[in-house]
Amino acid sequence: MLDADFFRRWMLAAAASVDREAERLTALDSPIGDADHGTNLQRGFAAIREALEKEPPATPGAVLTQSGRLLISKVGGASGPLYGTLLRRTGKALGDAAEVSEEQLADALRAAVDAVRQLGGAAPGDKTMVDALVPAVDALGDSFAAARRAAEEGAVATTPLQARKGRASYLGERSIGHQDPGATSSALLIAALAETAEA
Ligand code: ADP
Ligand code: MG
Ligand code: MG
Repeated sequence: MLDADFFRRWMLAAAASVDREAERLTALDSPIGDADHGTNLQRGFAAIREALEKEPPATPGAVLTQSGRLLISKVGGASGPLYGTLLRRTGKALGDAAEVSEEQLADALRAAVDAVRQLGGAAPGDKTMVDALVPAVDALGDSFAAARRAAEEGAVATTPLQARKGRASYLGERSIGHQDPGATSSALLIAALAETAEA
């Protein structure tokens, strides 16, 4: 079973990973965006870290809803509301249980990815974070490691795609040949989950 501390450690691992990879995320957002994805997420996850270090919420659901709210208020842009929705909807689905099963987490994440798809209107193949998140939640029934692999493969597979959503879509065919920054950060988030589960 996964308790509030597991979710706290997941968010802290994600924050550390975003810090390590911020420059790369911003560099990916440079040719097909506005070169702010790394700094956007760094700002959001710094706020999450600060809140968790001050007073960690008592339940898995509360850790994720608080984190999602902070991403919405601090990140802005396209990715803030989308990642905020991902975490908030996952947290909401977990309710106020003190512990949740891996299966409950997988179900909650699947529902949250559907909410992200609905909010952003992106389908798989549109060259967005959805291209990493959908294969990740599809593989989550097997293992966290499989989800991590699926997310990383999904992110890499965005390179040859033409963007159909978000800023990168303004470039039309010129968006081809670049890996999507949001799919890349989604793979980091899922990798942080897998690392937390393995620790
Ligand atoms: P902005 O484009 O507002 O500067 P970011 O740079 O933080 O925001 O995030 C860009 C990422 O957001 C993209 O790489 C893409 O993965 C994701 N994204 C943008 N629009 C959408 C959308 N409509 N649906 C899903 N993901 C999206
Ligand atoms: Mg950007
Ligand atoms: Mg921006």
